[in-house]
Amino acid sequence: MSAPCYLSTRGRAPAARLAEAVAAGLAPDGGLYVPERLPRLEAGTFDPDGSLAATAVTLLAPFFAGDALADALPAICAEAFAFDAPLRPLTRPDASLLELFHGPTAAFKDFGARFLAACLRRLRADDAPPLTVLVATSGDTGAAVGAAFHGQPGLRVAILYPDGRVSPRQAHQLGSFGGNVRALRVAGTFDDCQRMVKVALSDPDLQARVPLSSANSISLGRLLPQLAYYAHAALRVRRTHGLALDLVVPTGNLGNALAAVWVRAMGLPIGRIVLACNANATLPEFFAGGDYRPRAAVPTLANAMDVGAPSNFERLRWTYPDDDALRRALTAASVDDEAIRATVRRYAQAQGLVPCPHTAAALHLLDREPVRTDRRWAAVATAHPAKFEQVLEPLLGHPLAVPPTLAAMLARPARAEPLAADPGALRDWLLATP
Ligand SMILES: *Cc1c(COP(=O)(O)O)cnc(C)c1O
Repeated sequence: MSAPCYLSTRGRAPAARLAEAVAAGLAPDGGLYVPERLPRLEAGTFDPDGSLAATAVTLLAPFFAGDALADALPAICAEAFAFDAPLRPLTRPDASLLELFHGPTAAFKDFGARFLAACLRRLRADDAPPLTVLVATSGDTGAAVGAAFHGQPGLRVAILYPDGRVSPRQAHQLGSFGGNVRALRVAGTFDDCQRMVKVALSDPDLQARVPLSSANSISLGRLLPQLAYYAHAALRVRRTHGLALDLVVPTGNLGNALAAVWVRAMGLPIGRIVLACNANATLPEFFAGGDYRPRAAVPTLANAMDVGAPSNFERLRWTYPDDDALRRALTAASVDDEAIRATVRRYAQAQGLVPCPHTAAALHLLDREPVRTDRRWAAVATAHPAKFEQVLEPLLGHPLAVPPTLAAMLARPARAEPLAADPGALRDWLLATP
């Protein structure tokens, strides 16, 4: 197999090898890396009894073929997929919950963060200067990246999060790592944090003085592993029920849902893909036929989806260059806070299942679909509810049990440095901080 090359969505950057694209995060022209073309795989290529890690190796091998990281792919997958992504049955017979929150920080972002850390650690030469990994987070990304990179030699992490817009437990998690992982609380929104990271990454003068990479969902090293749990779930559903898997995906920056779109384009048995957005309606308006109009984010109960300018939209457009074809490929809907609250209460009462606010948005849209015997749905559960106790406990009237790894993180002291919502402030911090 010849080595695939990776191009920028903006078309003004040289083609890169996978290892280069993963190391860089963002392409030098400010675009996002995409493969020259998506590989096609037959369902028969996969070991029907394989683990999630085994599915990941088979699925990702064509992306890694001929690359510096190719030989390490099985070890990288073993590190990243050390916990499962189970399908939990729901009361309605045609649907289940795809639980992606069994990692150390209890959100789906653990998969991508651990995969990226496993790649970057192997790409760094022992005598190279330390690499600073920048990450803008609306809550869960930063914790997952902090946990995955904490204590990794030669790597340091700067986490930027919008001050006051993440839950107290999330903020505590972000500041709890210490050592090579620093938390910066930015006086602005998530979009500000994301813009600051993008400006830093496309500043060659800064890069020459402080080698930088990104751990945002714009990084291919986070996006590619997310394909694995969709492939694994779809193969299980095909084997058990002989049907394709339809998905409702809680969506903010569009990284998780894009992985589902790519897996389907690669030939895996995935049917409909529904994007569950919160009141930030940039995507629902586009899919309803409107213009793509990025805007400032508004705060909602599903704060990890408070995104007004979803950065992976560039990759979606690359996947479907024709707007009409794109609108046929996906649907999207907004779920407001009232509907999120009502859905949390309903599932807690009727099924003894407490969804996180993001998962509740997906369940709300699932419940609008009629029950059918010829379809199989999975609503994607993106985080454990205990991360959002401030929203959920008042609705439920009782405390939520905290998973042990999360509890250990919360028991540590936490610290974050304040930063202005300005790319210049981040530049100064990076140059001044050893
Ligand atoms: C990040 C996150 C989302 C949104 O995922 P995107 O890839 O940004 O679309 C949804 N729910 C939770 C819990 C998250 O942490």
